[in-house]
Amino acid sequence: MALFYRIAHIFRAFQVLYLLFDDIYNTEYSLFGIKNRANTPEGEILYMSFEALGLSDNLMKAIDECGYTEPTPIQAAAIPAVLMMRDVVGLAQTGTGKTAGFTLPMIEILDGGRAKARMPRSLILTPTRELAAQVAQNFDTYGKYTNLSKALLVGGVNMDPQIKALERGVDVLIATPGRLLDLFDRGNILLSDIKIFVIDEADRMMDMGFIPDIEKIASLLPFTRQTLLFSATMAPEIKKLTEKFLSNPKEVSVAPPATTATNVEQFLVETSPRDKKKVLDKLLKQEDVKNAFIFCNRKRDVDDLAAWLKGKGYKAEPMHGDMPQKTRTETLAGFKSGEIELLVCSDVAARGIDIDAVSHVFNYDVPMNADDYVHRIGRTARAGQKGRAWMLSTDRDAKYLDAVEKRIKQDIERVLLDGGSKPEDKKRSKPKTDHSKDPAPRSSVRSDKRADKSANEKPKNDVSPKKKRRYQDDDDGDSGTGFGDDVPAFFKI
Ligand code: AMP
Repeated sequence: MALFYRIAHIFRAFQVLYLLFDDIYNTEYSLFGIKNRANTPEGEILYMSFEALGLSDNLMKAIDECGYTEPTPIQAAAIPAVLMMRDVVGLAQTGTGKTAGFTLPMIEILDGGRAKARMPRSLILTPTRELAAQVAQNFDTYGKYTNLSKALLVGGVNMDPQIKALERGVDVLIATPGRLLDLFDRGNILLSDIKIFVIDEADRMMDMGFIPDIEKIASLLPFTRQTLLFSATMAPEIKKLTEKFLSNPKEVSVAPPATTATNVEQFLVETSPRDKKKVLDKLLKQEDVKNAFIFCNRKRDVDDLAAWLKGKGYKAEPMHGDMPQKTRTETLAGFKSGEIELLVCSDVAARGIDIDAVSHVFNYDVPMNADDYVHRIGRTARAGQKGRAWMLSTDRDAKYLDAVEKRIKQDIERVLLDGGSKPEDKKRSKPKTDHSKDPAPRSSVRSDKRADKSANEKPKNDVSPKKKRRYQDDDDGDSGTGFGDDVPAFFKI
């Protein structure tokens, strides 16, 4: 055993030396003879075709069937690095094609091998069940011409089928941390054969208090594994995690989907808490809404608003982390099929849901975490389409609105609804942007002078961000270790 570990260390040392050499000389060609400098911090995109990535015919066929013509920047940068067996830190969020950025090379690497019973060959950790399901779907899509087996270990569903799948042996294990640790503690799974370990949406894991679980899981894996970590932001806690568990990682980053800013028209209505429902109703009637996500900060508002909308005759359903997994899956299927037009949801429940052709996003509440705003509006305008995002804001939200506008580096256009609710505190209103180039909101909405949020102004009912955040998170990805409203949260504003 000692000899084995010595050999493993020597192998790793050689690997790290090679990688250092590769970095220092910034070579244009990797070991596989393919250019690998696409959109990395070092430089420009050098290749633009999937062929250049050196993927197998089986993968190329599946990619072709998806209709993808070229890799996205994160794929162009990450795929060659993963194929070179490097650890990778990918700074990218949903909508950038990051999932294929790790699933494609993983399929390439794992194809042909065989998994032993209860000893999966790779592990992907995701914060939520929905994201886990989505990653699994990616493996189905891209791996359809390979014989790789996979298992999904998520909470809220029966363990037995998951245990049976593990016993058959799986190449790819996609799991939420709570259920994985549960099954590990019961002895249903051994992690000593993991060759590739992926931490997806690390920042969201952090928000949900999963860092200790990730650390525990990482410590159970073999030293010689390859580790890939994807995160939309690089908070200090995530940085620490990468330093602890990744070895000389290749950093690849893409800007937050800039398309979000260009393809999503963003508007804001200033109103009062009392009038919010009325304003939303008006917007839903005035806008040409095909289907929409409506985001609330709190679970009870998700339920309440969905019930109210249903009462008004809208095809609306709620979705949040307290709902049974079966209901969540059915709701999602209904939304995808068009049976449900308005999905009233919380941030975590909606995370990772990938549905093309969503016409609108409504922020019923201003998110308390500015990054969430970017994620929310990124639910629309996917795959190059156009979308519209509306946000309702009250006086109480001034601080959070300010953070959102700083995050997106632009002022959101204020709109006054015809005959509708007006900002309560007109004294605060003064023009901040020139609306002469009005992006012409649809139907009868008209542009209004926007309210300025003075830097010194203290919002009413101010509550410390940490305190507020406690009421915002709602999902743990596993019923077994539910945090519910008491999720420990790191606040990023
Ligand atoms: P993700 O960021 O992984 O959630 O992916 C967002 C969307 O991009 C998904 O709908 C993918 O099917 C799609 N996608 C992934 N890779 C490509 C590509 N190379 N070209 C076009 N679409 C892609």
